Amino acid sequence: MTTAHAVDTFDSLNPATDEVIGTFPVHTADQVEEAVARAKDAAAWWAGLGFSGRADRLAAWKGILARRLTELCKLVSEETGKPTGDAQLESVLAIEHLAWATKNAHRVLGRKRRSPGLLLANQAASVEYQPLGVVGVIGPWNYPVHTPLGSVSYALAAGNAVVFKPSEYTPAVGTWLVDAFAEVVPEYPVLQLVTGFGPTGAALSHAEVDKIAFTGSAATGRKIMTAAAKRLTPVVIEAGGKDPVLVDEDADLDAAAEATVWGAFSNAGQTCAGVERVYAHERVYDEFLAKVVALTEQVEPGQDYGPMTMPSQLAIVRRHIADALARGGRALVGGEGAVGDRYVRPTVLVDVPEDSEAVREETFGPTVTIAKVADMDEAVEKANDSAYGLGSTVFSRRRGMELARRLRTGQTAINAPFSFVGIASLPFGGVGESGFGRIHGEEGLREFARPKAIARQRFTAPLALTSFARSA
Ligand code: NAD
Repeated sequence: MTTAHAVDTFDSLNPATDEVIGTFPVHTADQVEEAVARAKDAAAWWAGLGFSGRADRLAAWKGILARRLTELCKLVSEETGKPTGDAQLESVLAIEHLAWATKNAHRVLGRKRRSPGLLLANQAASVEYQPLGVVGVIGPWNYPVHTPLGSVSYALAAGNAVVFKPSEYTPAVGTWLVDAFAEVVPEYPVLQLVTGFGPTGAALSHAEVDKIAFTGSAATGRKIMTAAAKRLTPVVIEAGGKDPVLVDEDADLDAAAEATVWGAFSNAGQTCAGVERVYAHERVYDEFLAKVVALTEQVEPGQDYGPMTMPSQLAIVRRHIADALARGGRALVGGEGAVGDRYVRPTVLVDVPEDSEAVREETFGPTVTIAKVADMDEAVEKANDSAYGLGSTVFSRRRGMELARRLRTGQTAINAPFSFVGIASLPFGGVGESGFGRIHGEEGLREFARPKAIARQRFTAPLALTSFARSA
């Protein structure tokens, strides 16, 4: 925010040490509205730069991110608690998205001819994708660079101004990103920051923005849709998941076990598309399980992943584990819940009833449930029996494509760890309570643009289809 001064402030803490990283304003609804008003002028100027003018500035922003990557990653690591290597991975992938959106915006959104059809062949028909105006981006804390940039880069490349509300757990990273942008676009507040808690985000979803791009929990997504309904503001909702892995009888079990362990425990399981459930064919279940257990026993909290970033998440993870164990589940690794008051041990649960919280709700911690199925039809049925539908992974030598198509999720990886967030050209999004709309790729660019159809008459039609018939 460039002019308004917030009365209240809050501290951002390092979740591993409780050290104060910085103090940030709690922006009020009035201040959010002022930011949106400023963004309208900025949006007109930014749109006027055209694709190539914007591309130059976005490339300069990318240059800063790349040059100062070490500094950015240190801040990400301090504010989320994740190891520096994980901070590097998300930041490099975020830069990849920024580069892709910058490079492809003109190709995807520029004017294109369309066929006018036989009867209106005298017209030149075309469509172009115009900027929406001001986009409000509300982000989570688990990937504070990658997740916001997955929307912000595409919205900016499409010609919009953005008002960005980072999570209250990662305001320092949000501030860093916005300050870096202001260095390359000093003329207008094309990318502004508002900081604070839920009410600041709620104010943004009530404000006169042209679209809201939200990434966070399904519960908050619901509130944002309700608020946005008042003005019929369109929304993109990227919410949580309960992602399954399917292991077929002919699968490469080493690869499946590695993908499961990495997907379940990296970033302490605090990944929207993290692996939370596995359904393995009964013919390979025991062997697969033994491999997962052996790999999991090597995973070290505090070294391979960090603490739970958000303290309240610790209670949810503990509750899911306790509920699973109380209902007949067994922990083959971990299961004791937390290590101290910050870390959760990697936990492999089996024999967990399908209707327990650990199978049905998003746990968002380093736990995974593994269940035996009689065949892959049962695996598909159980995988699809979920309110969520974000990502999924299939390990099968013969039936990978067929099983992938049958899974009710936005994206499916076959015989590889789930790594969609890194493929900038592919759309990313959910089904059911995982949300709707798509970010990334061509679909992500179009999400932040308005199709404008134009038909121009080239010559008078021989058949007067569009005039009233006059009798002589
Ligand atoms: P959250 O819903 O608690 O908060 C997300 C953001 O919404 C924060 O900035 C928060 O301040 C804001 N907010 C809270 N209440 C609001 C309200 N009433 N109106 C407007 N904004 C409000 O989520 P979180 O805990 O920060 O993030 C974790 C969740 O995000 C998980 O469910 C995870 O799966 C999901 N996630 C999804 C994706 C994806 O791409 N699908 C990516 C990352 C995280």
